[in-house]
Amino acid sequence: MTHTPPHAIAHFIGGQRQAGISSRQQAVFNPASGSVSGQVALANQADVNSAVAAALAAYPAWAETTPLKRARVMFRFLELLNAHKDDLARLITAEHGKVFSDAQGEVARGIDIVEFVCGIPQLLKGDYTEQVSSGIDNWTLRQPLGVVAGITPFNFPVMVPMWMFPVAIACGNTFVLKPSPIDPSPSLLMGELLRQAGLPDGVYNVVQGDKEAVDVLLAHPQVQAVSFVGSTPIANHIYETGAHHGKRVQALGGAKNHMVVMPDADLEQAVDALIGAAYGSAGERCMAISVAVLVGDAGDRIMPQLAARARQLVIKNGMESDAEMGPIVTRAALERITDCIAQGVGEGAQLLVDGRGIKVPGHDAGFWLGGTLFDHVTPAMRIYQEEIFGPVLVCVRVPDLQQAIALVNAHQFGNGVACFTRDGHVAREFARRIQVGMVGINVPIPVPMAWHGFGGWKKSLFGDMHAYGSEGVRFYSKQKSIMQRWPQSIGKGAEFVMPTSKSD
Ligand code: NAD
Repeated sequence: MTHTPPHAIAHFIGGQRQAGISSRQQAVFNPASGSVSGQVALANQADVNSAVAAALAAYPAWAETTPLKRARVMFRFLELLNAHKDDLARLITAEHGKVFSDAQGEVARGIDIVEFVCGIPQLLKGDYTEQVSSGIDNWTLRQPLGVVAGITPFNFPVMVPMWMFPVAIACGNTFVLKPSPIDPSPSLLMGELLRQAGLPDGVYNVVQGDKEAVDVLLAHPQVQAVSFVGSTPIANHIYETGAHHGKRVQALGGAKNHMVVMPDADLEQAVDALIGAAYGSAGERCMAISVAVLVGDAGDRIMPQLAARARQLVIKNGMESDAEMGPIVTRAALERITDCIAQGVGEGAQLLVDGRGIKVPGHDAGFWLGGTLFDHVTPAMRIYQEEIFGPVLVCVRVPDLQQAIALVNAHQFGNGVACFTRDGHVAREFARRIQVGMVGINVPIPVPMAWHGFGGWKKSLFGDMHAYGSEGVRFYSKQKSIMQRWPQSIGKGAEFVMPTSKSD
């Protein structure tokens, strides 16, 4: 195997790649080979201040740019993204490890958001009431916030930033992205493409970094809003700290997504869905299915096939075309997930398929773990309660739909959920009664389309607005109400009572 020397991964400030002032760095790995492919800069306070200053300097002119012209920049960005989508996908696979076709899918779902914001003139339209009182009209409009920041996780280094910056920028804000230092390179290519699309320098900036950079952003007086996606403890911290500093915050957290399989479901389809949704992207998706809730005799009927398919997963370097699952993102994550599996065994769950210790020929130093399957897991076990974020599917058996719904509703997380059934009434009851933000009926990973918005409930989201869609437009803009009349319609004399529509 040939090794290329690690390259420096910089910030992107004011339209330029910049090494920054801080001398701190972090190694970036190719998880399939286990080798270091880059060294990413870790910003300090001065670096973050410089990115916010660039965004602040660009803000007045960008906010004044008409929504139609902003949309035209997004149209050009869309064309460039389509031309470079495989370049982005290759960067994702190289630093994250997910298989290339899945990385292409991630890029495609990000592009959807850019398509959505090409309609920003329509999305920002306000409303108007003529003649609220004699000669007086009242209307509302939405204006940008200023400099806004996005802090994103490792698992979708293109799609999750694209939940944020296209919407924020199209609304007239300027943006500072703090990506995960685990897979930082796509953030720079996105910056280059935005620049080529004609986005003025300073509208999109990237500070590479860790907690140090995040803490500066959270307290920075010029940052008006923070969007965060990542694990629940950090989401909670971001929400509380951002709010303490007077910012608008949306903070999306972790998940433990259940898939309920009713006895009347098409079990072959259910097995396909569970295998793809539990083990795709090595389970490192916030919408991955990590709990199968098997109702009635569905458990005994489904389990042999499920276990056989989990054993047959094709686990390889994600750039190989027949790979179904790539490596785990880091050695630390591999060790953490391996510990969770040992914990499940210790808690008394039945380990049907054990992915620990697998070898991938030619990739001895990669971060490999096979698909893992537990049966007879109970709600009291930690492997049921906590997010594992790896290729580990736990199966819980329940007697009926009511208990399946009660189980899901009692869980601390409420990101996504699915129900497999052929019964329309069951599907309707399930969708109405379930306490989860995104629901799939015979759809295992119900990630909403660009115009619907993405967000969980309970400990999966702190804040009240979902990402992208019309909720995203609302998050990145503030409403102003204007009431107006003209001298010709103003009567004589001062008014001392609260104006009402009856005072005509
Ligand atoms: P993470 O919480 O470790 O990191 C997310 C971001 O926060 C990164 O940019 C990281 O650098 C930063 N960060 C980490 N520790 C910090 C600290 N102490 N203070 C301030 N900032 C800090 O998450 P991750 O491991 O990168 O991503 C996986 C997690 O993200 C999982 O829990 C997954 O469920 C969640 N996730 C949720 C969604 C969703 O939409 N709800 C989507 C994707 C991922």
